[in-house]
Amino acid sequence: MDTNNFGFDFDALAEKDRDHMIHPWVDLGLTRTREPLIVVEGEGATVTDAKGHRMIDGIGGMWCVNVGYGRNEIAEAIAEQARRLCYFSPFGIIATPPSIDFAARLAAYAPGDLKHVFFTTGGSTAVDSALRFVSFRNNFLGKPKKKHIITREYAYHGSTLLSASVSGKPADRGNMDLITDYIHHLPVPNPYRRPEGMSLEAFCDAKVADLENKILELGPENVACFIAEPLLASGGVIVPPPGYQRRTWEICRKHDVLYISDEVVTGFGRLGHVFASKPVFDIEPDIITCAKGLTSGYVPLGAMLVSDRLFADLTATAGKGQFFANGYTYSAHPVACAAGMANLDIIEREDICGRVRENGPYFQQRMAELLELDMVGDVRGSQFMVCVELSADKKNKTVPPTNWDYAWRIFEKCRPKGLMVRPLSHLVILSPPLVITRAQIDETVEVLKQGIQEVADDLT
Ligand code: PLP
Repeated sequence: MDTNNFGFDFDALAEKDRDHMIHPWVDLGLTRTREPLIVVEGEGATVTDAKGHRMIDGIGGMWCVNVGYGRNEIAEAIAEQARRLCYFSPFGIIATPPSIDFAARLAAYAPGDLKHVFFTTGGSTAVDSALRFVSFRNNFLGKPKKKHIITREYAYHGSTLLSASVSGKPADRGNMDLITDYIHHLPVPNPYRRPEGMSLEAFCDAKVADLENKILELGPENVACFIAEPLLASGGVIVPPPGYQRRTWEICRKHDVLYISDEVVTGFGRLGHVFASKPVFDIEPDIITCAKGLTSGYVPLGAMLVSDRLFADLTATAGKGQFFANGYTYSAHPVACAAGMANLDIIEREDICGRVRENGPYFQQRMAELLELDMVGDVRGSQFMVCVELSADKKNKTVPPTNWDYAWRIFEKCRPKGLMVRPLSHLVILSPPLVITRAQIDETVEVLKQGIQEVADDLT
């Protein structure tokens, strides 16, 4: 029996995990053969596993523990609200003080006139709700043909049928039925994979033209919305060419196509602002979706913020059939909203966004050193989002064969050295808690460098 410092019996837990847990996003067969990584506690930017190994959490839980682990203030807010009023439905005219206060506070941060907040249970349901809101609105306004949705390859928007259908990672699209008749995927705006010799400006022109051409092909009167992450996070932290976000937003405005900015990852400080859309990309979307950093992952919560312009059309009349038939038992959960308020208190008091703007460029600059390694084809990202793309042949940007299990091997090398990264085929993704220190950034880069080099040595 492998009993660790925390009083957990690792072997017994591992056996129960294998026998009873269905894990998300995995080759299910692998969960029967690979030893689970059981995480038991966290502090700041580190977590400790059930065998007593402490690691820098390079993935921020999963893009989400923005203010770091072990925040008593959030735990207390959760406990206090649970004791006072653990739950009440938000349906109809019912509300709770934390949900009302949190909605107003989010609205104050949102760009433009995005004043109206619909709380959900996470990012997928925020995206689902946004798309359903758009469809509801168009039907109500007598435009039922305006239903086509434009999205992009390599986007990730969630795991409900609708949010998965607007996602575009090729590896995720093979084994399940998705909605295809009114959802259209544009080619990914990935500068690393642009045609040889093409300038970034010309590439941007081409990607913006992809959107406009698709709208014209479908007919603007038939296109409801364009949904886009500002940076394509799970698709490999793809940073579109400069100006792309603004120009695609302008195209949408020109053709009366709504723009949904999916800030599930980029929000709440990860790019140095509570919402990145306006300050970083100069866009005022019609709808913003968010989750993850909204509570720093302490409890599940998501939200969509809708502009006054869109909302006003639906509230101008009452009793005319504008019944918004969308929502969840746990929408606007008071405990989650109390956690969100405490999380935002920390973000404000500790100037987490300012800290990211200060340390983010250092993180990117240090990570860029990995480009010195032969097997690293690209290092890309912004602030506290980064992706290391491994290559079998750097010059030709050749993707390594899947059976090399490249990123997975790196994950395994880094773990015992005290770093957790996110392996995705030939991509290594990092999105650490925003409270990571410069010393921990240095350690992250050194460990990752060693891990990559060791795997390359093993493979040759
Ligand atoms: N949108 C984006 C951009 C995401 O990265 C994710 C999850 O990673 C989602 C939506 C779905 O969020 P959730 O997993 O909370 O449902």
